[in-house]
Amino acid sequence: MNGNLFALFESRARPAATFLETPSGERWTYADLLATTGRYANALRAAGVAPGDRVAAQVEKSPEAFCVYLGALRLGAVYLPLNTAYPPAELEYFLGDARPALLLCAPEDHARKAPLAKAAGVRACLTLDGAGRGSFADLAAGQPAAFETAARAPDDLAAILYTSGTTGRQKGAMLTHGNLASNGEALTRLWGFGPEDRLLHALPIFHAHGLFIAAHCALLSGSAMLFVNRFSAAEVLALLPRATVMMGVPTFYTRLLELPGLDAAACRGVRLFVSGSAPLLAETAAEFRERSGHAVLERYGMTEAVVITSNPLRGERRPGSVGLPVDGVEVRVADVADVPLAPGEVGGVQIRGSAVMKGYWQNPEKTAEDLTADGWFRTGDLGVLGRDGYLTLVGRAKDLVITGGFNVYPKEVELAIDALPGVAESAVVGLPHHDFGEAVTAAVVRRDPTLEAPAILAALRERLAAYKVPKEIHFVDELPRNAMGKVLKTALRQALATRGTAGGARRHGSTLS
Ligand code: AMP
Repeated sequence: MNGNLFALFESRARPAATFLETPSGERWTYADLLATTGRYANALRAAGVAPGDRVAAQVEKSPEAFCVYLGALRLGAVYLPLNTAYPPAELEYFLGDARPALLLCAPEDHARKAPLAKAAGVRACLTLDGAGRGSFADLAAGQPAAFETAARAPDDLAAILYTSGTTGRQKGAMLTHGNLASNGEALTRLWGFGPEDRLLHALPIFHAHGLFIAAHCALLSGSAMLFVNRFSAAEVLALLPRATVMMGVPTFYTRLLELPGLDAAACRGVRLFVSGSAPLLAETAAEFRERSGHAVLERYGMTEAVVITSNPLRGERRPGSVGLPVDGVEVRVADVADVPLAPGEVGGVQIRGSAVMKGYWQNPEKTAEDLTADGWFRTGDLGVLGRDGYLTLVGRAKDLVITGGFNVYPKEVELAIDALPGVAESAVVGLPHHDFGEAVTAAVVRRDPTLEAPAILAALRERLAAYKVPKEIHFVDELPRNAMGKVLKTALRQALATRGTAGGARRHGSTLS
């Protein structure tokens, strides 16, 4: 049997069924998907791409851009999606590291990026715009729609996704056809996907969440996607009555809650809301439940392993927990010596199984560094397992604050601050401190502008051990976040460090803007 992931998609495709619809009413059937990806696979080959070669794409989201990924799979090439926000200097690094055979970029960027590609030894640089037009589309238009999907082994690479991981330069996580098939099948079963589903897809497709997690559930169940090129809360709200499932990052949910029209009637056709990529605040989950009648299903994943744990479709969706290991992934919590800990004890989350990546691209040292002697991958997340197997995350290992020799998990302090009336949300980091080593420091977004730091500190002193109470509180208008809704702790740390002298006079009430 062909281990190519695309062969699996092909086996589930009913030609006349809808594969994708756009808000403007454009409709693609699975027959269109097969024909377009066939043309694209032929076009990639005509552009000089061979099986095993990398295809880098730094293009706007569109149905055509998504078909480039599928065309690359069909050809047996390795897809390399790049965030459109990466500036030329970062692009240069990715091209030099991954050495793709082809770079796809926006037509208006061609003059700037083609020389960079050439200098990095990339053979061809073609274009594709947000409407699916450009020199790549022109090349594909002259190609036949038929293409025999290349034979691949499950261990062959399907994609490389760059991720910053815990520290240092971005590393390319190598995901195989087998990794993606195993995780995709597990999620399709777990979340009950069937041919009647219509998935509202408003996520970017340069990240595992939109490219794999959401889209693979639709492809593996032969169901339809409502494909939105860019998230806008108003547009998503207007499309919800046509959807049965929505997957999003927590920011989608907070933005939807800002709209008065978000209510049970707007969500009446939806059977499942899923959230992941960053923690869903308990307050957001509760508010969403009250307004829509839906308990958002939270799951946890990372580029290196796609989805690791998920709350169940049926059974308890536990707020604050990321749920149980998905099929094909084993999870344990271990101490710094990689010794497994008992339930209830906080330690590093480690995983192994068929969804875990093959390693980091051309970086065997880093791959080895993140693996334990007995073959478990260290996620860099800190967590605690319940006796019933539910996992709760308490932060990233690198975000752990060590103050006066005590470990402080930022999440615990953030939860305590977020629970206070008048607080919208918060983020806690450690800043250098001459006496304590690091000082617990909080950035707080207020809902009530009259709330002041002494009131917060007084309330926290009643709830937390003294060493966990922030030494400083900074009020900010918003927390710095990336496209996936993750708080950028390094950026926050830098911004806060330039605003106050941790350990000196306490500064309360600064803004980051
Ligand atoms: P990425 O590789 O960009 O997908 O980032 C992976 C990281 O996102 C994980 O290692 C976690 O730190 C974080 N993450 C993903 N899902 C969740 C979640 N549901 N709750 C908390 N953190 C999450």
